[in-house]
Formats: sequence, C-alpha cells, structure tokens
Amino acid sequence: MISQNTIQQVLSRIDVLDIVGNFVKLKRRGANYLGLCPFHHEKTPSFTVSPVKEIFKCFGCGKSGNSISFIMEHEKLSYVETLKWIARRYNIDVEETELSPEKKLVQQTNESLLIINHFAQEFYANQLWETDDGTEIAQSYLSERGFSDDILHKFQVGFAPDKKDVFAKEAISKKYNPELLIKAGLIVERNGQYFDNYRDRIIFPIHNNSGRVIGFGARQIKKNDKSPKYINTPENELYVKSKILYGTYFARHAIDKADECFLVEGYTDVVSLQQAGIENVVASGGTALTQDQLRLIKKYSRNLTIIYDGDAAGIKAATRGLDMALEESLSVKLVLIPDNEDPDSYVKKLGAVAFKNFVQHNKKDVILFQIEVALNESGDDANKKAGLVSQIAETISKIDKTEDFTRQQDYIRQASQLLSVDESGFTNLVNKFIRNRISLEEKKIPFDEAKVHEENAKKASAGDYSDQTFALLFKDELQEKEVARILLEHGNKKWDVEKLVADYVITELPEDDLFDNQVVLKFIEEFRQLRNNQINPDRNIFLYHPDTAISSLAVSLLYFPYEVSSHWKKELSHSTGFQKSLFEQDYESFIETLKPENEEKLLNYLNMQKDTTNEEVESSVNYLKLRKVKKMLMQNQADMEKASPAEIENLFLTHVHLKKLEVDLSKKIGSVVIR
Ligand code: ZN
Repeated sequence: MISQNTIQQVLSRIDVLDIVGNFVKLKRRGANYLGLCPFHHEKTPSFTVSPVKEIFKCFGCGKSGNSISFIMEHEKLSYVETLKWIARRYNIDVEETELSPEKKLVQQTNESLLIINHFAQEFYANQLWETDDGTEIAQSYLSERGFSDDILHKFQVGFAPDKKDVFAKEAISKKYNPELLIKAGLIVERNGQYFDNYRDRIIFPIHNNSGRVIGFGARQIKKNDKSPKYINTPENELYVKSKILYGTYFARHAIDKADECFLVEGYTDVVSLQQAGIENVVASGGTALTQDQLRLIKKYSRNLTIIYDGDAAGIKAATRGLDMALEESLSVKLVLIPDNEDPDSYVKKLGAVAFKNFVQHNKKDVILFQIEVALNESGDDANKKAGLVSQIAETISKIDKTEDFTRQQDYIRQASQLLSVDESGFTNLVNKFIRNRISLEEKKIPFDEAKVHEENAKKASAGDYSDQTFALLFKDELQEKEVARILLEHGNKKWDVEKLVADYVITELPEDDLFDNQVVLKFIEEFRQLRNNQINPDRNIFLYHPDTAISSLAVSLLYFPYEVSSHWKKELSHSTGFQKSLFEQDYESFIETLKPENEEKLLNYLNMQKDTTNEEVESSVNYLKLRKVKKMLMQNQADMEKASPAEIENLFLTHVHLKKLEVDLSKKIGSVVIR
C-alpha cells in the first residue's frame, strides 16, 4: 500500500487542468475550460473542466469526476496505480507501507512492461554513448547522417551492438522476467537460451503521451538484405500500433501552438525536422492512418499536412486513410518531396528556413491532388472516369456538413471542374452518398419527424388521397422546416439578376401566422432582418447563432439535409403526380450520361438541372402556402356550420376565395386538385 504521507502529497499537488490537459486540448471558456471529450466521440466540445471545483464533466456522455477518476478511467488504472502515476508526474517519492515480496510478480503487465522498456532504453543509450562500439560504429554513423548529440539525447536514441545476448544477459541478471522481456520484443528464446532481438541497430524509443517508453523502432546500420530495415516492438498490452504516432510526446505543444501537424513517414524524418527546429511533426511509420491516430492529431490541431516522398509508393501511402481524415473533419494538405529525397535528407540539404518555405509553398489539397493523379491514370477511358467521379463524390460526401459545409461546397465546385462534369449533377451525386449514409444512421438516431412522415406516407401511397391524409402528411410543420432548410441551403444563391433566393422566400411568405413553429419563425425573422440590412444570409450566421434554438435548428436541418424533404417529395410525387424531383435522379443514368456517345443526353441532363434550385424553392414555398390555405378552409368550414344567417354570406365569400387560392397553388405544384 501507498503511505498516507504520499497520498497527502499527491492530493496537495494535483491540478485537474494539468492532469486532464495531458490528454485533452482545453480552451478557456469563462471560468471553465472546454475540450473534446476523450470518453466519447464528439465533434463539438462538450467536455468541461472546472479548475476551481477541481472536477470535469462531459455534457455529451455525462461522464464526470475528479483528476483521480479521470486517470483511472482514461488510462485504465487502479486507484493505487493512478496515485503512482500522478506521483511520478510531480516527482513525489512513493513510500510504500509494506513491501510485499511478490510485488514484482503481482504488478500489472502494463507497469512491468514500462519498467522493462525504461531499463532497455537506458541500456541502449548507455551502449551508444559509453562503449567503444557505440562511439565507433553508432555515433559515427549518426553524425555522418547529420544528427546532433543534443537531438539524439532528446529522443533518447540508443544503440544495440552486434552481439548475440549482451542485453539478454544484463536484463536477466537484473531479475527481469524473461517472458515479459519476450513480450516486450527485446529478447527471443531459442532452445532454452535467450538472445537479443536487436543487433547492430540504432534504437528509437517510442514514447507515450506522458513521456514513458512503450516500445522501440530498431533501424539497421549496415545494409543487409537478409533482415528488415526496421524491427518494431510486437503488439502487446502497451504497444498498440494503431494508436501510436511516433514523436507525439515531443510535438504536441508545438502542434497546438502552430495549429498544424506535420505527418512524415519515418523516425529519422521526425528527428531531423525537430533538429531543424520544426517541432510540430509526428510519424506514422509509413502505414495507413487509423482513426485512433487521427483523433490523436485532432486533440491538438485540425490541420494535417502530410509530407511524403514524391514517388508512387509515397503518394499511395499519403492518400490512404484520407476518407477517415475527412470524417474526422481534419483539413488535409499534401507536400511531396522531390528528387528521390525524403524529409530527413531534404531538410538537411535545404536547411530549416528553405525547407519551411518549400513546405509552405508546395501544399496541395489532398482531394484535388488525388483527382489529378487518378485522371492522369484513367486517360480517356469513360468507364474509369465514371468510376472516378463516383469515388470522388463519395469521398467528398464524407466531409462533415455541419462543420464544413463551405468546404464541401468548395470541393464540389473544384472537383466538378477538374472532372469536367456539371456541378449540380455532381452535387446530386454527393448528396446521394450523404443520403445513403444518413438513412443508415437514421436507423440509429431516433428522428421523430421522419417516423411520423413515413407512417403518413404509407397511408398516402396506399391510395388514400383524402384531405385528411393530406393534412396528416403535413403535420408536424414539416414544410415549415423545409422552407427553413431551403433558406439555409439556398438562401445565399441568386434567384434572378436582382435578388437572392432568400429575398424571394421572404417576399412570398410575409405573414408571421404562416408559421406555427416558433423557432422557424425566429429563423425567418432573422433572415428578414439580415436582408433589410443588405447582409447576405451566410449559413455560419445561423450555425453559430447565439440563440441556441436557432443554431440547433440550423444544425439539424443541415445534418439531416434530405431525409425529410426527399421522403415526402418522393412520396408525394408517387401519390399526387408531383414533378419528378431532382432527388430521384438516379446514379446509373447519371453515369451513363457521362459517356461520350451520350453527349446529347448529357446536354439535356445539364439543361434539366439548371433551374432545379428555383423549382425546389418555389415548390417548398407553395406547399407551405397550400397547407395554410387548407387549414383556413377547414377553419372556415367549421365557422360556417356554427354561423348565424347574417354571417354566412361573408364566410361563403371567404370560402370561394380560399378555394380559388387552393386550386391555383395546387396547379402550380402540379398536384391533383382535391375537392
Ligand atoms: Zn463525453
């Protein structure tokens, strides 16, 4: 057990900001700090830390606690292990009240592996700096490659001499458990004898976020075709490759500060760039990025710049895992190093300043780059191109619209230019992928409106076209929200040469009592005010509106961009002969039109697409009006039933007027007229 004295010391030194800050990037918000919750996946921060109360709470998943419970939960440690973890962090000596003889055996594997790795790291560093072989072979090799002693010390680089069991003997004589030494990848067993796993190699320790060694990368010194260039620690409790980026421990503050993370392939790239003073750099080890690694980067910055060799393999490696980066809302740029160099050699060749300039001026957008490469490969092959169009549309669809709507639109515009396809057709294709994904997600997320609608739509398609069905179909203010969505999605577009779509909608729907939903009404009022002041209704205004009712409506409209509208439009077209909506443009026929022999079809298609925004806007406005007219008709009908003879004439005139409006609107929509 840990002594009461140690516990007291730990508790007096503990600082929730410091502890949590090891794992979560926190930003000040008033008296509290805010960050992305490490316990659940989220895209907008709801994880709050109160330094005054010494607690944290996540408003997303509900987890809360203090520094100790945070470490227990996050690092999966016991209470005692957590106290030790914190004690180590604050350099507090841990006094144990009773020293159990079984201690070494009982220790958690994790802690044992950490201790073993620490021992190994010191052993290899000692071999590098304090032995003749270290000086003659390893140090000369490293200095030839331009590494300074300082940087090698910082990264705790070491050397494994070309001897069969120098490490194994030392470790076993110090009573380290051979099984764990094998698990740590440091020794191997053959015929009951233990041998060193790393021989004649430079040893790069790999650190976790608190700076402890969790594994090694061992690079061969002499070219030898029989053994691999690198040997890495095998997967164990501590070393989980998919969660590790080399250099994070040394880079994290710099990434935070620069708000950009450089990703390179190898350990030596990281060390060289750090030596040149470029400290915001980590390495993937050349494998495809995993979601865990991307989230690790995202803790510090959303801007990822991949710096890889310009050869084909480098390009392939760099673009793998890209879709995931988009899903994580990372902005990804690519810099290719020319002339068969890698970042390590290139920074040494150019020097730090020129290298930084090179990176700054050669950043390419990774999606657009991918398109260029693929277009070069596909040449004139129409099938390949169609496949490419679809693949790129799917990639773009993965950009999170709620966070990055403008980015998605930029991509659509630029990609459709590069691919030379029509922008609106391409937009539809992207939307199709979004819709497919949303309808998958919909099964997970309860979305009442969609449900209500689905039931009503079923009734409608069963052939029941009565007014009641119609009214039901329009329950829950679906088309009020649809108008809001139209405004959000298209409000900033031109309606005609003079006015914006927003202006058209506002003029067409001037009365407040057209809206039952008070939030939609607020939303409309906001549009009116903006337009009165000649301000363009940018979506950001709504997404980040101080009134959370408005901002959450905006988010929900963009997050579920089509499930409401496509559902009811599709069903309506089925039941009422409504225009074939643009949402139904199917993908196969779209791709078919891209083939050269279908040029005429393609032109027709493009013409067909031209006016869809206005059509869509107009029909949404008219549906809303029609619903209101129908409501008024029903109300008027009820009034007539109770009316005195003196009142009936006026009510009847109203009825005639409303009926005429109903017919006109129904005609405009193209719906069947319901008596
Ligand atoms: Zn949470």
